[in-house]
Amino acid sequence: MTETKEIRYQGHLHELQKQLMGDYYAQLTAIATGRSDTKNAHLLIAGNPVELVRAFGMIPVFPEVNVLQLAVRKQSLPLIQKAEELGYAVDNCAYVKADVGLYLSGYQAPYGTIPKADLLLCNYVGCNVYLNWFEHLAELTGAPAVNIDIPFVRSADGEPSPGDVDYVVKQLEELIVQLENITGTSLDMPRLRRTVENSALVGEMWAEIKDLTKRRPAPYDAYFDSVTMMAVLYCLRGTDEAVTFFEAAREELSRRAAKGEGPLPEERFRVVIEGPPPWPFLRVFRDMFSRWGAVAVASTYSTVGGIWEFGFRHDPQRPIESIARHMLQYNLCNRTFLQRYDQMARYVDEWSADAVVIHSVKSCRLFSAGQGDMREYFVREREVPTLLIESDLEDPRYFSQAQLRNRIDAFFEALSQRRLTAASDAQLAAGGAR
Ligand code: SF4
Repeated sequence: MTETKEIRYQGHLHELQKQLMGDYYAQLTAIATGRSDTKNAHLLIAGNPVELVRAFGMIPVFPEVNVLQLAVRKQSLPLIQKAEELGYAVDNCAYVKADVGLYLSGYQAPYGTIPKADLLLCNYVGCNVYLNWFEHLAELTGAPAVNIDIPFVRSADGEPSPGDVDYVVKQLEELIVQLENITGTSLDMPRLRRTVENSALVGEMWAEIKDLTKRRPAPYDAYFDSVTMMAVLYCLRGTDEAVTFFEAAREELSRRAAKGEGPLPEERFRVVIEGPPPWPFLRVFRDMFSRWGAVAVASTYSTVGGIWEFGFRHDPQRPIESIARHMLQYNLCNRTFLQRYDQMARYVDEWSADAVVIHSVKSCRLFSAGQGDMREYFVREREVPTLLIESDLEDPRYFSQAQLRNRIDAFFEALSQRRLTAASDAQLAAGGAR
């Protein structure tokens, strides 16, 4: 194996993202410290109606984004332990515990201060922890909480029934009344259409960017580099800034693709990665793949905020219905496991992947339940080499570096061997045919 020397992963895009996210947290800090009277709503990432929040001039706050950033900075453990002292079990989702710990620490984070919610806007999309999380926050902070109930997609083709769409639209209409009460303004329909149009533009560019990794080499890593774009996709979706950022991202990454540049000196293996990253050890984890020349060409995690690569776009002509459809149908967490298999199988086929890597996380049963069967499915039914590894997305106590590295090394050793054997078999067959 060729050891890859020091690899620099960050480009211009990363700097632009840092600047936008810095501005975003400066806005949150201004609210938290009384220098701005902008209203805010705390939202969850999967299947939220952020366009409605933005259309009222409110700013969304994402506890998941806040706590993952603490994990990246290796500051999550004391907060998790603070929540455990309060009675949270060791096996509760660590995102929740870190967020509760953050609240108990005065919402002071190294990147900014988080304002107390004017509205806790939950959406039930398959994860019942979402509901309990926001109920706990309501109890702790005294903020009003609402939940949008999203029916699970039950049909084999993934289409929600007209009744399901109507059910969500009606709830969004009730939410509009609540947002009107909080902000003291009526819904401005042209503003909502503009916001939804911005989401459509971003969705289009994000889909084009995802398409670029079908090339060899992939111009960026669809797991590790996607997180740079996902932060903007979540926190700024619906804004002009998000459109500008994605224009720059598309331009930069298309240029890299045209020049045949990839994130590594050599792309040896193309993998599809399933599951959230171990945020406290992101760089270490990435290096475990990079040293083998393994690049993610697609990832399910990059679709937790929505699935655009298979054609969905928000529709400014039917803004509320398209928000409802996004929440219901184009939302990874609201889909059946078989639909998740299909999504991954499409990645393997259409993005020409050599293998699947499943990163199972202890915190998240929504994502991790059934991943053993998923591995069996890809190995046995699809004959795709598949590796299943485990750690956590927030809690550093569950990351065993040596063990993970051994598993990953053994997997890529076997893949390399398999490739050599296939090449020599092909040579022998060609010789015999002469
Ligand atoms: S269990 Fe999973 S989906 Fe639910 S809040 Fe925790 S990390 Fe998010």
